[in-house]
Amino acid sequence: MSLRILCLHAHPDDAEILAGGTLALLAERGHRVAIASMTAGDCGSDSHRPEEISDIRRTEAAKAAALIGAEYHCLGFHDLVIFNDDSSRRRVTAALRKHRPDIILTASPLDYHCDHEATSLLVRDACFACSAPNYGTAAFGPGPSLPRIPHLYFVDPIEGVDRDGRPQTPHFVVNVGAMMEMKKRMLASHESQRAWLQRQHGIDDYIVQMTEWTRNRGALAGLEFGEGFRHYTGHPWPSEPVLEEALGAEVVRTKA
Ligand SMILES: [Zn+2]
Repeated sequence: MSLRILCLHAHPDDAEILAGGTLALLAERGHRVAIASMTAGDCGSDSHRPEEISDIRRTEAAKAAALIGAEYHCLGFHDLVIFNDDSSRRRVTAALRKHRPDIILTASPLDYHCDHEATSLLVRDACFACSAPNYGTAAFGPGPSLPRIPHLYFVDPIEGVDRDGRPQTPHFVVNVGAMMEMKKRMLASHESQRAWLQRQHGIDDYIVQMTEWTRNRGALAGLEFGEGFRHYTGHPWPSEPVLEEALGAEVVRTKA
């Protein structure tokens, strides 16, 4: 059965860094994958104005998604302006009703960046709201409510730790060794970020850094390269292991 899978993270390039290999595997298996970011990354530059860098980054993100036959969407939030409030929850809910995912992958609830943490909360609660018919979104041409809450998974935080450096252990790690070249190509589409990450984050080469992070996650499960996920199964979110089943032998459970 072909599943609809939406990876909705905060900024363009987060999905590629943290789940690019898994998304490539799922696309290769015939599932319908979409990548979305809350913002267009309007603060990710010191040489372009916000509108300019947003246009550049939307194009880069669409290019990265297209490499695996995925669509790309931006929800139109702004960097550092993602808050867990009424209008934002309605906006994310409208996006879920439009894309109608069976599985949604989103940011870790604990991560280094406020936008990542706010995205995680908004998506978690929009998963509940999108299946409640009486919850309105004020969207133009709103999609109908979903028949049930989508399956929700959190990707790893950046470097696998919270902001105090405490390890966040995934429930399982996906073997993405066969997809590392594709993952690198996807991330390389985000060319505008090379100089920015060097200036703001002190990262010399973002492809090398991503490769190192992916190697470290793989090591948790005895793999060369891996991406970790946590399955959110709080009441009444669905608990069937649909993502794990879709990935089959590539999934290695950890002791979390
Ligand atoms: Zn980010």
